[in-house]
Amino acid sequence: MHYDYLIVGAGLFGAVFANEMKKAGKTCLCIDKRRHIAGNIYTEKIRGIDVHRYGAHIFHTSDKKIWDYINGFGEFNNYVNSPMAVYGDEIYNLPFNMNTFSKMWNIKTPEEAKKIIESQKSKENVENPKNLEEQALKLVGRDVYEKLIKDYTEKQWGRPCNALPSFIIKRLPVRFTYDNNYFNDRYQGIPVGGYTKIIEKMFEGTKVCLNEEFRSFMKKTTDTFGKILYTGMIDEYFDHRFGSLEYRSLEFKEEDLPEVQNYQGCAVVNYTKSDVPYTRIIEHKHFTFGKDEEGNDAEGTVITKEYSKQWQEGDEPYYPVNNEENNALYEKYRELSEKEKNVIFGGRLGMYKYLDMDKIIGEALSLAHKELQY
Ligand code: UDP
Repeated sequence: MHYDYLIVGAGLFGAVFANEMKKAGKTCLCIDKRRHIAGNIYTEKIRGIDVHRYGAHIFHTSDKKIWDYINGFGEFNNYVNSPMAVYGDEIYNLPFNMNTFSKMWNIKTPEEAKKIIESQKSKENVENPKNLEEQALKLVGRDVYEKLIKDYTEKQWGRPCNALPSFIIKRLPVRFTYDNNYFNDRYQGIPVGGYTKIIEKMFEGTKVCLNEEFRSFMKKTTDTFGKILYTGMIDEYFDHRFGSLEYRSLEFKEEDLPEVQNYQGCAVVNYTKSDVPYTRIIEHKHFTFGKDEEGNDAEGTVITKEYSKQWQEGDEPYYPVNNEENNALYEKYRELSEKEKNVIFGGRLGMYKYLDMDKIIGEALSLAHKELQY
């Protein structure tokens, strides 16, 4: 059979692209090497609890068109991400806001907090921050940096904060209000019934073949394809010919606790001190306020401890490490990819970019519309 597109990877990028193509009357076949669709936003039910199998995913965007688009595939709840941070025997609210500052310094007003941060900042030479450490010191001063940023970031990225790009920390709001919302975006929520359901809906009318690795599939298939959309690692596609790009990988240790109703009182708790080996614990039931899809109380709880590590052959890649060296190397692959006539690269791995879900949707929609010449 002939298909207009072969989509490699059944994650969010591939699903949005497939859906747009189907609406335009084009045919796609999608393959994925995993045993399930939805890539890293895959959720699976345990006693009615949607378990985020590849780490917490909270949908947030300020783009109304993207919010309306995703809501077309399922309902979202009104979850607002308000993680906690544990540092030794202390516990703080995130992101950095008046609740954090008042607890750290026993103060009440924004003026008091600003004064402390300003005085800490003046002791550092950080007017033009060149790396994450300097950026963080400039934003919140030494105390917050030492307790809530330094070790967490170094655990997550496996390198010192002064060797990391500053944009990573700019993802986090700093507020002088008592507001624990982790995101500044206008719209936020978790899909009722889980992300997998949303992706299933996007793939309606598109054939998806699971447990299919790209190269072995290409060797055996008798189907033909107009073009390929590749959402895997771009350096792997080109056999690492210029060298390997760096990725961070994650390891998840899940614990099913049928006897425990409420383990930590919050969906996400970050462990910001280096003596704890994991970066965070997710308690999945709190993403849906302890309820299952029908609105009944979920029984027991499921928690996941998340460990960060350097990606090696055989691991799942999660985060591109977008420092200068890797970005320069990616640029070489990107130039090469332009010569690959009928192959398009998309998604976090194909584009080597730390993209949130809303940005992935935006990129996939614009690619589809470019292909369709809208
Ligand atoms: N961060 C931090 N302390 C925290 C949470 C986040 O310093 O408790 C910083 C850290 O530099 C991290 C970045 O914010 O790399 C993004 O973290 P987040 O956990 O939001 O990233 P995600 O994995 O959810 O995309």
